[in-house]
Amino acid sequence: MSDPIVRKGLTPKFWEKKPLSEMSQTEWEALCDGCGKCCLNKLEDEDSGEVALTRVACRLLDDATCRCVHYENRHQFVPDCIVLKPDNMDSHAYWMPQTCAYRLLWQGKPLPEWHPLISGTAQSVHDAGISVQGGTVSEFDTPFEEWEDHIIEEPT
Ligand code: SF4
Ligand code: SF4
Repeated sequence: MSDPIVRKGLTPKFWEKKPLSEMSQTEWEALCDGCGKCCLNKLEDEDSGEVALTRVACRLLDDATCRCVHYENRHQFVPDCIVLKPDNMDSHAYWMPQTCAYRLLWQGKPLPEWHPLISGTAQSVHDAGISVQGGTVSEFDTPFEEWEDHIIEEPT
């Protein structure tokens, strides 16, 4: 599977050499491993703050590629899709997937071996069983009342 994210021509291991706040836009985008887990809907308990992941995917997620089908103009369709930036990591890290590269680096942890920046191929994310490939249901077909029946453990 081809990788739509530009990962060529970047400083080797740039993620180990500079903090998130000093990365260029291309470097920042290259950190995304393409797992698709952030595009699954979550259920948050208002009292405990606990977040449960569901297999109910955003309407724009392609279940086969784990990519957003309209990434560049996604806000026309999904206005509340979050634009992750170094300065809003503090408020979003708590709900982000455990293996998300942004969260890992924000926590001061290394990237895993299967990350495309290390493996050299986007396919490694799927081969490692980390992505949501083939495992989602659409929010179009799944009424909100049923989301609780679709709670899953995060593949890690
Ligand atoms: S969870 Fe993180 S690494 Fe995975 S697709 Fe979302 S932003 Fe990219
Ligand atoms: S709009 Fe695209 S990037 Fe945002 S949650 Fe949906 S599929 Fe993911």
